[in-house]
Amino acid sequence: MQTIIEPFRIKSIEPIRMTTRQERETILRAAHYNLFALSAEDVLIDLLTDSGTGAMSSEQWAAVMRGDESYAGSASWKRFEKMVKAVFGFEFVIPTHQGRAAERILFSIMCKEGDTVPNNTHFDTTRANVEYQGAMAIDLVIPEGKVPEAIHPFKGNLDTGALEQLIAEVGPEHIPLIMITVTNNSLGGQPVSMANIREVAAIAHRHDIPLYFDACRFAENAFFIKLREEGYEEKTVKEIVTEMFSYADGCTMSAKKDGLANIGGFLCTNDAALAQQEKDLLILTEGFPTYGGLAGRDLDAIAVGLEEVLHEDYLTYRLASTRYLGEHIAREGIPIVQPPGGHAIYIDARAMLSHIPPQQYPGQALACELYLEAGIRSLEIGSVMFGKTEAGGVEDTPAEMELVRLAIPRRAYTQSHVDYLVEAIISVFERRQDIRGMKLTWQAPYLRHFTAKYEWV
Ligand SMILES: *Cc1c(COP(=O)(O)O)cnc(C)c1O
Repeated sequence: MQTIIEPFRIKSIEPIRMTTRQERETILRAAHYNLFALSAEDVLIDLLTDSGTGAMSSEQWAAVMRGDESYAGSASWKRFEKMVKAVFGFEFVIPTHQGRAAERILFSIMCKEGDTVPNNTHFDTTRANVEYQGAMAIDLVIPEGKVPEAIHPFKGNLDTGALEQLIAEVGPEHIPLIMITVTNNSLGGQPVSMANIREVAAIAHRHDIPLYFDACRFAENAFFIKLREEGYEEKTVKEIVTEMFSYADGCTMSAKKDGLANIGGFLCTNDAALAQQEKDLLILTEGFPTYGGLAGRDLDAIAVGLEEVLHEDYLTYRLASTRYLGEHIAREGIPIVQPPGGHAIYIDARAMLSHIPPQQYPGQALACELYLEAGIRSLEIGSVMFGKTEAGGVEDTPAEMELVRLAIPRRAYTQSHVDYLVEAIISVFERRQDIRGMKLTWQAPYLRHFTAKYEWV
């Protein structure tokens, strides 16, 4: 069969409240054109993030009922620990309430002032946690990774030449760890190849530097390897995951992504002394090492999720639905980050709304238009998020790219929802010349995109 179907049927539904364009105009104005300020019930298709927004399976809900809420040594913890070890192969597992809690524990123990941490591209919480320790977060993705229209099968790869150069410049003793983010979220959910992982691991270990994965979308990355990398066509996703993680010394993970759960995360290592320090800090800030800030039922839901995410029919559907959205809008001439990544489609708003200068936030204008057109909530990743107003200046220094991210929650929407998205995006594209830019009327001193207020220019 040619048609790829959702490999599940629906047992429980969550109604979507329909709204009219006129209602949405009132709602958006009241929110000062900031989509974070909307009530979720005023959104028809919510693509703000794929983090914690997926649907759990009937097996996960059954596992929730089995959750053991004992403070120490619960059965849920045993099942969670066993599954994490079976999938990732590390010796020590430290549960946390989210990915960033794992990052905070890892970097506060491994990094000190003046250190440098290379990554293909740091996710924003990762960068913030590195910098909070007084260390420098350096992004070393291959050059193709930064060009939206460039086609490359593994656009998330780390530039190994640049890595060697950085190690020579700062000295391996000032690099406490090297990270690889799979898939590379910030630059389009682009995968990293096994060959690249192997090469980075060889460089890291030659200099005695530990290699860590930011493992949030490990299963999507493994499936891209199966589809695109020579020699992996016949391997199972589980085998590919085992090989990927065999090259690493540890990982951080947000279970809100490929854990198929609504909350949770963990940190892994093979180093006993490090694990002890991490557990000590965990007790101080997250909880006892057999629950780490999670309820027993969450641990059980994640344990089942980590097994389900490796099913190839799930991954086939997952990548196909993201690709379907990307291909159907790109075919109409809408510029997107190519090729479609695993968890999201990124529209190049600078190219699409070329009449709007970056100082008038084309990404934010497009995100607002998508909401007005069809109740879609997306995320600006451009000059609102990364632009900066220098002291005394009135206009922002723009960001490198003006993107609008459409992140696809896991197992939550069907193909007709995606068809609706395609129709809405094309309709906005057709009247793009009439779209105006935006101006900020209020902004917070940092992380302004969460709370900023806007007006149309
Ligand atoms: C989401 C994410 C994180 C942080 O995880 P949280 O659970 O949101 O704290 C870190 N790295 C990447 C690549 C992510 O996508």
